Amino acid sequence: MNLSIIVPCFNEEKALPLFYQELKKYLDDITYEIIIVDDGSKDRTVEVGLELKKEDPNIKIISFSRNFGKEAGILAGLEESQGDLVVLIDADLQDPPRLLLEMIKILEGDEYDSVATYRVTRKGEPKIRSFFARMFYKIINKMIDVEIVDGARDYRMMKRSMVDAILKMQEYHRFSKGIFAWVGFNTKYLEFENEKRVAGETKWSFWGLFKYAIDGFVGFSTAPLRLATLVGAFVSTFGFIYMIYIAIKAIFFSDPVAGYPSLIVIITLLGGIELLILGIIGEYLARTYMEVKGRPKYIIRKRY
Ligand code: UDP
Ligand code: MG
Repeated sequence: MNLSIIVPCFNEEKALPLFYQELKKYLDDITYEIIIVDDGSKDRTVEVGLELKKEDPNIKIISFSRNFGKEAGILAGLEESQGDLVVLIDADLQDPPRLLLEMIKILEGDEYDSVATYRVTRKGEPKIRSFFARMFYKIINKMIDVEIVDGARDYRMMKRSMVDAILKMQEYHRFSKGIFAWVGFNTKYLEFENEKRVAGETKWSFWGLFKYAIDGFVGFSTAPLRLATLVGAFVSTFGFIYMIYIAIKAIFFSDPVAGYPSLIVIITLLGGIELLILGIIGEYLARTYMEVKGRPKYIIRKRY
């Protein structure tokens, strides 16, 4: 058995040595490779990685030409990996390496193809972020056919067969949580308590998470596109009934035409709905555009 450990890193000069130290504790009797994917770090991540590589020749470093995002890092790592088992793990020790041995043991049997993890608590995370995250999982699970577990991390070990399946999904806008669920296979979930990042800072801004959520929705569901049909049907039914009401009022009760306020309300409301729906169509169109271009999902500057 050999294990590929994929570590996406963006500005992790402080966390990386601590991470390696902790990880190494669990690798005694294992043949492994560690693939550090440097996602265009602006700090000394690569240098720190090279220091570690001097002591441990099992470390490989792939350095991107710029920051392409964690999803691209995951993809590059998976494409590079050679192991029968592959694990994705963050460099900040929020994904505890102590679970590795348990994961390996579970995958030794035939029952499971993948071991994933989720956090039971969101301790130490801003309340508002937890709230939106919860909502995101609730809504997306209603909209898509496969299930994404609330609190699931990208920390996950997979057998080669599952990795190969994932690599067949070559979409440009990657939403790994959705992709993992979409390819199927038997997955066992381990839970753990949320841990604080050891060093450095989270790369997620609120806006970043928002875009990530949109990628999730648009990437795995076309339900929002149906919104136009639904709202359209609803509004025109209402409009038709209202038209008959106005006609009867004007013909039989010779009611003078009034209602400037209601007119304005209806116009702005409909204008808003139309723009919203145009925006939704735009999201899909933009993604179609990016897919059609077929640009590479990342560019490697150098391999070490
Ligand atoms: N990361 C990356 N590219 C990015 C942002 C993040 O490779 O553009 C890496 C980062 O170095 C870390 C992992 O992805 O190893 C998770 O990032 P972070 O800890 O910022 O996310 P959080 O744990 O707060 O969700
Ligand atoms: Mg983190």
